[in-house]
Amino acid sequence: MLLENRTAVVTGGSRGIGRAICVAFAREGANVVTCYAHGSSAAEETVKLCKEFGVEAVAVQADVAKPEEVKCLFAEAKKITGTIDILVNNAGITRDNIILRMKDEEFDSVIDTNLKGAFYCMREAAGVMMRKRYGRIVNISSVVGIKGNAGQVNYAASKAGIIGMTKSLAKELASRNITSNAVAPGFITTDMTSALPDNVKDELLKEIPLGRLGSPEDVAEAVVFLVSDNAAYITGQVISVDGGMAI
Ligand code: NDP
Repeated sequence: MLLENRTAVVTGGSRGIGRAICVAFAREGANVVTCYAHGSSAAEETVKLCKEFGVEAVAVQADVAKPEEVKCLFAEAKKITGTIDILVNNAGITRDNIILRMKDEEFDSVIDTNLKGAFYCMREAAGVMMRKRYGRIVNISSVVGIKGNAGQVNYAASKAGIIGMTKSLAKELASRNITSNAVAPGFITTDMTSALPDNVKDELLKEIPLGRLGSPEDVAEAVVFLVSDNAAYITGQVISVDGGMAI
């Protein structure tokens, strides 16, 4: 097992990519602490799936856009094994609109959750990881943060911002044996993308050289690699998991 006796915090683990990451971590022997905004029964299902691998798992209701709730999340995580080895900033939302119609609230809520939420979590995790001189941080960005996308200036700003934070933190924390990397998924089948009409999905498929949509598990396996000892010499990188979409 690649992550035996590690403790991981994974934000937004109640469904989609976050759940797949939690379950893959548990399979590799890590204890898992996840959080969600609203979906408590879905989060409990994630916990159940993790516990089937014999690890500790807990789900905490914590809105990552609220620093005081992020503090509670990390306090809960420290209760499990007294430490935190891994942080995955996965929680994310979209509020798409063309720029002329985009409201301040639509812009701010996406930045608050996707970008500031990741910052609050990294700040909490960094203190623990620096003291133990070990840590693995993975931030979930997006192909949209690399290439941009019409109707998503808010989301693209948050996901491009995550890449800048990831690289800055890699430089800041490398001397303490802490790596910081980003994963940039392409078009992954989750609730976030299920609402897209079929004709939009068909157009998107034409942009994917591997000719299929990605699964949450495709993303989770890349994250497992990045937080494992096999990736000990990789930091400040953005790994695209997108079937070639960003080429
Ligand atoms: P989903 O919408 O399926 O799940 C989002 C998760 O984030 C849920 O667990 C949700 O909890 C949680 N969440 C949302 N807002 C908050 C918040 N304020 N505080 C805590 N938890 C929150 O998304 P995906 O699985 O599709 O996406 C996961 C990540 O991957 C996101 O960052 C997304 O931007 C990124 N991504 C996704 C792609 C895709 O094609 N699906 C492509 C590229 C990137 P709750 O259930 O309580 O709402």
